[in-house]
Amino acid sequence: MYKYILAAALSLPTLAFAGECDLEITGSDMMQYDKTELTVPATCEEVSLTLKHSGTMAKQVMGHNWVLAKTADMAGITEDGMKAGLEANYLKADDTRIIAKTKVIGPTETDTVKFKIKDIAADSDLTYFCSFPGHSSIMKGKFIIKK
Ligand code: ZN
Repeated sequence: MYKYILAAALSLPTLAFAGECDLEITGSDMMQYDKTELTVPATCEEVSLTLKHSGTMAKQVMGHNWVLAKTADMAGITEDGMKAGLEANYLKADDTRIIAKTKVIGPTETDTVKFKIKDIAADSDLTYFCSFPGHSSIMKGKFIIKK
């Protein structure tokens, strides 16, 4: 009897475990994220990313956000973001190139963004980065949607 139950369980379509769709990343006073790559299963109904700040330096000096976009769009987004300023979280308003974003946070702050990935093409080359001026050269990583 047990064998049949197991077989039935194994034949269920592969759904992502909720935990796999919940990501966490921390930015530091060293102008670095603690992860250089983030992977989520393509089956995630919704991805949740929480950004934390492990440092003590003020937001105006060492603030961090988390922005997801196509790798090719990163330079343009950060360039426009620099002009937008801290008040705008160093992002141009209504920038359609941005897939997901958090606000710029300082020490002890966190911010969570929830977004859907089902409309993103399978072979998309995606990068996440911090749009605080000068940070994206180091503060970036690969975002992989695992099929
Ligand atoms: Zn940063």
